[in-house]
Amino acid sequence: MSIEKTFARTLVTSALPYANGYIHLGHIAGAYLPADIYVRFKRLSGQPVLYIGGSDEYGVPITLTALKEGILPKEVIDRYHSANTEAFERLGISYDIYGRTSWDLHSDTTQAFFTKLLKGGHIDQQSMELWFSEQSQKFLPDRYVKGTCPKCGYEDATGDECENCGAQYAAHDLINPRVNIPNDSSTPVLRDSKHWFLRLQDFSAQLKEWLDGHDEWRANVKGIANGWVSELRARCITRDTDWGVPIPLDDAEVEGKRIYVWFDAPIGYVTNTRQWGIDAKGDSCAWELWWKDQSTRMIHFIGKDNVPFHAVIFPAMLMGQGDYILPDNVVGNEYLNVYNRATGKAEKGSKSKGNMISVRWFIERFSRDAIRYYICAIMPEGKDAAFDWDEFLNRYNGELCDVVGNFVHRSLTMTVKNFESKVPEPGAFDDEDRALLDSLPVQLDGIAESIENFRFRQASERLIDIGRRANVYFDGKAPWTTRKTDMVRTATTLYVCCQVVRALCTALVPFTPDGAAKLAGILGVSLPVGGPDGGDDGWNAAKEGLPAGTPLQQPEVLFPKLDPEVVEALAVEHAAGQAT
Ligand SMILES: [Zn+2]
Repeated sequence: MSIEKTFARTLVTSALPYANGYIHLGHIAGAYLPADIYVRFKRLSGQPVLYIGGSDEYGVPITLTALKEGILPKEVIDRYHSANTEAFERLGISYDIYGRTSWDLHSDTTQAFFTKLLKGGHIDQQSMELWFSEQSQKFLPDRYVKGTCPKCGYEDATGDECENCGAQYAAHDLINPRVNIPNDSSTPVLRDSKHWFLRLQDFSAQLKEWLDGHDEWRANVKGIANGWVSELRARCITRDTDWGVPIPLDDAEVEGKRIYVWFDAPIGYVTNTRQWGIDAKGDSCAWELWWKDQSTRMIHFIGKDNVPFHAVIFPAMLMGQGDYILPDNVVGNEYLNVYNRATGKAEKGSKSKGNMISVRWFIERFSRDAIRYYICAIMPEGKDAAFDWDEFLNRYNGELCDVVGNFVHRSLTMTVKNFESKVPEPGAFDDEDRALLDSLPVQLDGIAESIENFRFRQASERLIDIGRRANVYFDGKAPWTTRKTDMVRTATTLYVCCQVVRALCTALVPFTPDGAAKLAGILGVSLPVGGPDGGDDGWNAAKEGLPAGTPLQQPEVLFPKLDPEVVEALAVEHAAGQAT
């Protein structure tokens, strides 16, 4: 599991959320919180890191939403782009840029990818039979036509794919097709249309060799990727729509057609890096260091449904460019489901069930530290997990508040009260003092190792363990008793506790940035901000401790406890479908 190669910098991406709905906690657990924890750790460690995100704004579902609401597609994407930008900010997902695939710059990047692949002989033109509405005089891509799945009989299957069983089929295999456009319920007919296909099979051998060289990837990601690589074929990359990147060809056949969203969406990472370089560096070539330099390490964070695109298709597109790096890891999480109290079972979040919890709803009601802590504690890394209100209450209150927050608070309160608001001068250390002091660098290294290996749940357990161990020490030393009889002993105990608090201040940063910042203010510790150019190593600086005599500010509660009655009321609101 070790990183054999040494890299000069890390490029991190999180899947671009589709600008056709509000992001919810399932998204956060899949692709955003793990990436943000990783990036915050890298920044604090002084390692150069760039974090790229943005909205995915093309494709049929957006035009369908616009049709149904009687508005323009641009209005749909503006609504969700701005809402999701705000939701990410409030949750502390700390992108260096949150871009948009509707930017002109993105058309430019996508067209360059297309042209390079075409010139390399990796794009073919083929005629295909597609559903057409004679009433509306238009082709019906994807969800514009519905019918019965030829494999499983599901009655709401789309033109070439069934969301119930996952089957993909030719248009003419769809049973009982019907047009799915407002004010058009005619029966569609089949017509020939020319489209462009990416010859993924050209990259089979190269993909296989590359995947075989990455034993350290998670088994779920490797399994899905290997399954795809063994049966690659040409995949259509254009659609009959006017909502997408124009096809860069001087050809009458491109009329009414655009590059399809699955081709352009991952290229959004490149576009947004280009825009970041222009904004942050005033340099239109700054992005190339991040995409074309072999000493850059690229990591994609995604949900499981995105594995084929990030571990097979996009890498093939990058291979076809000739001078791009490939991802060094694709960190794919399983799903975060929702626990249903009425049935006692976890169920998938779905729009129709109304059981999804949107970030914008949640962040109005709880601190981002509380949300981030709980989602990290149950992160669906190896298997699905479920959001459960009782567990949210118990784990946040019982672990972050009672174990870590309480230790910090009682240590600092006693120190401030008894030692003139300064870290006391210790006396001679006994074995327990020494054992606890010696454990701190080891525990910080343990958390760093977990984060570096994308085991975020384990990292949060190790964070809580620092607090657990320190509470045992505190209770054993009973400074509230010794202060009546032995001030030297009390000073030593609280000096040791202050060192634990200093380590916690750093360890909290990736998970609960607000609590960490508050604590840093109390301790007078400056936490390096880092970024794409790197910076000071604030992670290992924590091992130097907090010298005796360091002034302390009046402590305040880092993690306020949740009121069970409030949580219960919101759980009821959620069960009634009001948390979307
Ligand atoms: Zn089906």
